[in-house]
Amino acid sequence: MEIACLDLEGVLVPEIWIEFANETGIEELKATTRDIPDYDELMQQRLRILDQHGLTLPQIQATIAKLKPLDGAVEFVDWLRERFQVVILSDTFYEFSQPLMRQLGFPTLFCHRLIADESGRIVDYKLRQANPKRQSVLAFQGLYYRVIAAGDSYNDTTMLAQADAGILFHAPQNVIDEFPQFPAVHNYEDLKKAFIAASNRDLTL
Ligand SMILES: [Mg+2]
Repeated sequence: MEIACLDLEGVLVPEIWIEFANETGIEELKATTRDIPDYDELMQQRLRILDQHGLTLPQIQATIAKLKPLDGAVEFVDWLRERFQVVILSDTFYEFSQPLMRQLGFPTLFCHRLIADESGRIVDYKLRQANPKRQSVLAFQGLYYRVIAAGDSYNDTTMLAQADAGILFHAPQNVIDEFPQFPAVHNYEDLKKAFIAASNRDLTL
């Protein structure tokens, strides 16, 4: 039995915070873990900025709802789900990803939660667990599933390493150079081929 684990942002949908910053014109929301390595500090800053601009969760969701999955992502997910059990392992939040997940046909998603008050103001966030992507792969393996995982960035590499096969998709060159043990592909056709090559079953395109 095989499970396909996919990262979400950068693999199936654009980077949500970056797109949201573009959509709203709020430049400070473009900060990522590259600028502020401490994730908690980064999230506190993001929540503070949302507050300053009076952005509530329903308003943010309405803005995110205008975003589209990456070209070819919907077809790719449909293809994959015919051949694997598919689980998306992401560091996003259910409340943000909802409009994009709707467009992907709501595949299974493991990610974090935002906490909003009755006015819709986001007051806090809750991480699902520490090292959530790797822990999920480990748990599936504990259920005797063979795991093939694909992701695009540093926060995916422990998931790719724990998986029985890991694939880099759309990864920047520095990640590809640093992790030469993972095959790197750049479009969905090649990603399909990489999944077929990694599978222990006789799959076809
Ligand atoms: Mg990503």
